[in-house]
Amino acid sequence: MYETQYHRATSLSEAAQLLSGAGEEAKYLGGGMTLIPTMKARLAAPSALIDLRHVAEMKGISVEGRSVRIGGGTTHFEVANSDAIEAVAPGFTELAQLIGDPAVRHMGTIGGVCANFDPAADYPAALLALNGTIETDRGEYSADDFFLGLFETALGEGEIVKAISFEAPDASAYEKFRNPASRYAMCGVYVARRGGEVRVAVTGAGSNGAFRWHEAEAALSARFEPEAIDGLSVPEGDMIGDLHGSSDYRAALVPVVAKRAVRKAR
Ligand SMILES: Cc1cc2nc3c(=O)[nH]c(=O)nc-3n(C[C@H](O)[C@H](O)[C@H](O)COP(=O)(O)OP(=O)(O)OC[C@H]3O[C@@H](n4cnc5c(N)ncnc54)[C@H](O)[C@@H]3O)c2cc1C
Repeated sequence: MYETQYHRATSLSEAAQLLSGAGEEAKYLGGGMTLIPTMKARLAAPSALIDLRHVAEMKGISVEGRSVRIGGGTTHFEVANSDAIEAVAPGFTELAQLIGDPAVRHMGTIGGVCANFDPAADYPAALLALNGTIETDRGEYSADDFFLGLFETALGEGEIVKAISFEAPDASAYEKFRNPASRYAMCGVYVARRGGEVRVAVTGAGSNGAFRWHEAEAALSARFEPEAIDGLSVPEGDMIGDLHGSSDYRAALVPVVAKRAVRKAR
C-alpha cells in the first residue's frame, strides 16, 4: 500500500497551485481511465491526485459557424453525442463513439487523451488532420507542435490542457481498424479536405505515436479519390510491432484504412 492524497480543484489556477504544493510525484486526474489502471498495476504511485473534473473552465462544447471548441474536461460520451459537432464534423463524433467501451467514454476526457498521447489514441489523429489547436492554462499549441513522440507532448511541468479547437473542414472522416479485444486502434486514419488541401493522420500504427502521412496528403491534394493512394506505402521500420500485429502487418493496414477513410469522406 502507498498513501495518496486527493484534492478537488474548482479552477485552473487552484489546480496548478495544488499540484505545485503537493510534491514532485503529484498528478492531475482527468477521467482516470489511464491513470487509475496504471496506479492499480503499480506502474505509477502518485503522492497526490489533483482532480480536474470540477474545473468549470474546462467544460463544454461550443460550435460557432464552423469553429469548434471543446473543453479539456469534456468526456468522450459528450463529444460522441454532440449534434452541434456532428453537423460540421461528423468524423469527429464518430471517432468519439469508437473509443473504448461505454465506461471509458463516460469517464475519459479529451484533455486526458491529449496529455497522455498514447500511440493508439484516436483524438491525436483527428487534431493533426484538422490542424487543430491545443489550448492550455499557459498558452496554445498547434497539434503539429504539441504531439512530439511516444507519450511525449509539448506540455511543460504542471501545464493543463484547457481546451482543443479546430475549424471544421469541407470534408472529413475517420476510419478505425480496431483490436477486437482492447478496441484500441491497430490503425486509425483521419482524412480532412479543406479547399485543395488534404491532411492525413495515422494513429495506432506508428512507433512514435500518431503521425501525418505527407506522401498521401500530396497525392490526395492532387486527386481526392481512394485510388490516389494506390502504390503508396509507409516505412515498415517506423511501425509498431507487438503481439497484436507485426510492423509489416501494420504497414499494410495503413493504405487500406486510409483508402476507406477517403471513400467515407467523399
Ligand atoms: C479499456 C480501455 C479502452 C480504451 N480505449 C481507447 C480507445 O479506443 N481510444 C482512445 O483514444 N483511448 C482509449 N482509452 C483511453 C481513454 O480514452 C482515456 O480516457 C485516456 O487515455 C486518458 O484520459 P483520462 O481523461 O481518463 O485521463 P487520466 O487517466 O485521468 O490521465 C492520463 C494522464 O494525463 C494527465 N492529465 C489528465 N487530464 C489532463 C489535463 N487536462 N491536462 C494535463 N494533464 C492531464 C494525467 O495526470 C495522467 O498523467 C481506453 C482506456 C481503457 C481503460
